[in-house]
Amino acid sequence: MASDSDHYMTPRGEYIRIVPMQDALGPHCTECERTVIPRASGGTEAEPWQHAMGCSQYRPHPDSIAGQPDYAA
Ligand SMILES: [Zn+2]
Repeated sequence: MASDSDHYMTPRGEYIRIVPMQDALGPHCTECERTVIPRASGGTEAEPWQHAMGCSQYRPHPDSIAGQPDYAA
């Protein structure tokens, strides 16, 4: 059964650290208004799991249960 926790837990039951970044000067999604910026660790791509779950641009974290290829929402 799908649940919100599927989006921040791995299949092994570990929590994924998805830290919502709030930066008043950073780029914002026009739809969900979340700050969506590359990770401070050096990523160059915006990470789509930073969007709100209801946002059309949201994608589950690839390590999450919901991010698995065979996941059925
Ligand atoms: Zn968004």
